[in-house]
Amino acid sequence: MLCDAVGMGDRGICQGCLDDLPWNRHACLGCALPLPDLTSSGTLCGKCQKSHPHFDRTLAPLKYEREVAPLISGFKFRNRLEYGKLLTQILADFLEEHIDHRPELLLPVPLHKNRLRERGYNQSLEIAHLLSKRFGIPIDFQSLQRHRDTEHQSELNYTDRRKNIKHAFTLTQPLNIKSVALIDDVITTGETVAEISRLLKRGSVQQVDVWALARTP
Ligand SMILES: [Zn+2]
Ligand SMILES: [Zn+2]
Repeated sequence: MLCDAVGMGDRGICQGCLDDLPWNRHACLGCALPLPDLTSSGTLCGKCQKSHPHFDRTLAPLKYEREVAPLISGFKFRNRLEYGKLLTQILADFLEEHIDHRPELLLPVPLHKNRLRERGYNQSLEIAHLLSKRFGIPIDFQSLQRHRDTEHQSELNYTDRRKNIKHAFTLTQPLNIKSVALIDDVITTGETVAEISRLLKRGSVQQVDVWALARTP
């Protein structure tokens, strides 16, 4: 997908290109923010140290930069589902190495119905389907609903963004489980997944992990 060489197995990417991807090797244990190269693992970023987000841990194997950005936007906006498949395989391999427990449920971050109509598919649900198959964890894509259209967050300043995302989601029924993984494509500020986690933790959920393809540096 990235050069003229033959891909490995069903991956669609060669070893050289895979090695050259912007890996998020040194990341905050809370929000997966990329940290300086020499940071030891298990460190929290300044923001998470000051106030730990409502979710417990974020795992995102790649940084949202260089070749990862066009792969993700192709997957999200231009129907390039093969890019999504490749990135999800990378995420699944990464999870295999890094998770110490399996959540009971996968919860893809929902799109507002206007966006879903526009795009025809929810990229987070596509990711969740592949992860569900690989790890044998069920998906719930109905209980969590987005009733406010909060897509164009990047045009807003920090305070307006927080206001905009607050109460954007509802649970149509209580989840009688203790642990979930929220599935998203890119974690930018973490506000969306923090808001959902806040909602989940008002119920029986005690552990919320966030699994995403990439994290914005
Ligand atoms: Zn290549
Ligand atoms: Zn952090």
